[in-house]
Amino acid sequence: MMVYARTCVSAAEGYVPGEQPVGDDYVKLNTNENPYPPSPRVLEALRTASAPEVRLYPQPTADLLRDKLAEVYRCAPDQVIVTNGMDELLNLVIRTYVELDDRVVLTYPTYVLYETLVRLHGASAVSLELEPDFSLPDSIFDTSGKLLLLSRPNSPTGTVFDKGRVAHLAGGFGGLVAIDEAYVDFAGDDCLTFAQQFDNVIVMRTFSKSFSLAGLRVGFGVANRDVVNELMKVKDSYNVSALSQIAARAAVEDCQYMRQNVDKIRRTRQRLTVELESLGLQVAPSQANFVLASPDGYPLSAAEIYTRLKERKILVRYLSMRRLDNSIRITVGTDEEVDCLLKALRDIS
Ligand code: PMP
Repeated sequence: MMVYARTCVSAAEGYVPGEQPVGDDYVKLNTNENPYPPSPRVLEALRTASAPEVRLYPQPTADLLRDKLAEVYRCAPDQVIVTNGMDELLNLVIRTYVELDDRVVLTYPTYVLYETLVRLHGASAVSLELEPDFSLPDSIFDTSGKLLLLSRPNSPTGTVFDKGRVAHLAGGFGGLVAIDEAYVDFAGDDCLTFAQQFDNVIVMRTFSKSFSLAGLRVGFGVANRDVVNELMKVKDSYNVSALSQIAARAAVEDCQYMRQNVDKIRRTRQRLTVELESLGLQVAPSQANFVLASPDGYPLSAAEIYTRLKERKILVRYLSMRRLDNSIRITVGTDEEVDCLLKALRDIS
């Protein structure tokens, strides 16, 4: 007998089959990975991992990594939770704090997974429209909910909300404020100190972007220790693999290497923006490792650009979402990858 599942949406719906190819065949500018390898220290640490490290279960609370994160990000170790990518942390925050009849406040447009996770959980999402320039609407200051999820820099726009307004929001919101800083290392400032300043703020980070470790799935959150304690009760015992913990620790011990890559990506982002604009695409001001572009003065639609580039083995992200249905999101790759993209855009126009 067929048993019906209660799922209404899929957490994997954002992923297009075939668009996570293995190998170097494609110029892959669709999922905001870092085009540069991680620090050599990461690969060395993985190579020299010992048999017991893989034979035994990993540390449940990733203590060695947690201590290092606390040192680098200036907080106490018990204010840090390490997770299987930031996606797990988003799930944990919802499962720990949101009851079925609670409201979760989101902005629109933002990272599509937020709404998906809220709906999978069975709660309701209230999405507030961002202003035309993607800034926060005034109505957000009067909206109540158990949880507010904000992405800063925002995805898929790449833009940042005014930091003072986010602080104001955190101070006045009656529920937990979760600030997703997945792309923050590519931005000019961050909200990490809010985790110390406000009891109801969790700042969430990932090793997938600036640290080039998307394949290993490591994220972490910084918050008041009571918040971290509650999240710890809900997470799986062994949520982060031993090798992932080892790699993330080596990566964070070499932040200088990460910053060099970030600087390169920011320079390429600037050049990509100028060149796209000169081709007739409108580009939102990005503080992330991707840009959102719409072909206002370019002869093809976003959907056509996506298809024509894919034929040339260049993958960008076509966003079939309201307000952005004539936009593509392009990850900032290496200079060579960006040259290849720009040449293709000239050829197909
Ligand atoms: N937040 C945002 C805004 C993202 O774009 C992503 C990556 N797609 C994540 C969180 C999740 O990152 P992770 O790889 O750590 O799960």
